[in-house]
Amino acid sequence: MRLLLLGGTSEARELAARLVDAGVDVTSSLAGRVAQPRLPVGPVRIGGFGGVEGLRSALAEYDAVVDATHPFALGMSANAVAACGDHVPLLRLERPGWTPDPAWHHVDDHEQAASLAASLGERPFITVGRQELARFVPALGAHAVLARVVDSPAIKIPQSWRVITSRGPYTLDGELALIREHGGDVLVTKDSGGTFTWPKMEAAAQCGAAVVVVRRPPAPDGVATVHDVDAAFSWVEAR
Ligand code: NAP
Repeated sequence: MRLLLLGGTSEARELAARLVDAGVDVTSSLAGRVAQPRLPVGPVRIGGFGGVEGLRSALAEYDAVVDATHPFALGMSANAVAACGDHVPLLRLERPGWTPDPAWHHVDDHEQAASLAASLGERPFITVGRQELARFVPALGAHAVLARVVDSPAIKIPQSWRVITSRGPYTLDGELALIREHGGDVLVTKDSGGTFTWPKMEAAAQCGAAVVVVRRPPAPDGVATVHDVDAAFSWVEAR
C-alpha cells in the first residue's frame, strides 16, 4: 500500500512517524509555503501538484490518500476530494476546533475579523498567518498592530505595525509576556484548534483582551473524516 499524506500540520508529522515506524510506504506532501518547514519522518515531496489534474496524475503512484492539511487549507482539501473521486480511498484527518468560549467573538472571514477588531481595540495582536495579513490592512492600517507570522509577509507593512516571525508551540508565560509588552487589547485568530497555539487564548483571557475567532470554512461533503492521529492510523492499518 502506497500512501500519500497531505501534510503541513503537527498531526500529519505524527501520523507519518507512526506509519514509517509500522513499515507503511508513506510519502508526505508539503505545499512549500514555509522557508524552513519542519520535515516529517520518511519520504517527503514539496510543492503544489498543479491543481486537480496534477494531483489526479500524481495519484497513479498511490493507493490511498490521507488529507491531514490544516483546517483552513480548503483549496487542497477540495482538490483531494475531486482528484480521488470514487476510485482512490481518501481520509480526512482534521483536528477539532476549540470549544467556543462565550466571551469570544466569532466571524466568518478575515475582513469581518479586521473590522470587528478595529471596533474592539486599539492594539490588536493578529495571529492568522502571513497569507491573510493583507486582508487586515484596510481596517487596521492605522492601528498599532502586532502581527505574528512564521515567515515575513510579502506585503507592504503599515508603519504602525510590528511584525514578528516565530513558530509555535508557544507557552502561556511567553504569550502573556508578549501581549503585555505590546499592550494588546484584542487577539485575532483562526479557529485552528489543537494545543500548539492554545496558550494565546488563555493569555488573552488573563490580560482582559477581546478575542476574535475566524470560523472554519465548511469541510467538503461526503469525505470519511477522523479527528485524531490514532483513528487515522487505524484507517490506514485496516487497508
Ligand atoms: P490551500 O490554500 O488549501 O492550497 C493552495 C494550493 O497549495 C493547493 O491547491 C496546492 O497547490 C498547494 N498545497 C496546499 N497544501 C499542499 C500540500 N500539503 N502538498 C502539496 N501542495 C499543497 O493551502 P494553504 O492554506 O495555503 O496551506 C498550505 C499548507 O500549509 C498546507 O499544507 C497546510 O496544511 C499548511 N498550513 C496551513 C495553514 C493555514 O492557516 N491555511 C496553517 C498551518 C499550516 P496545487 O493546486 O498546485 O496542487
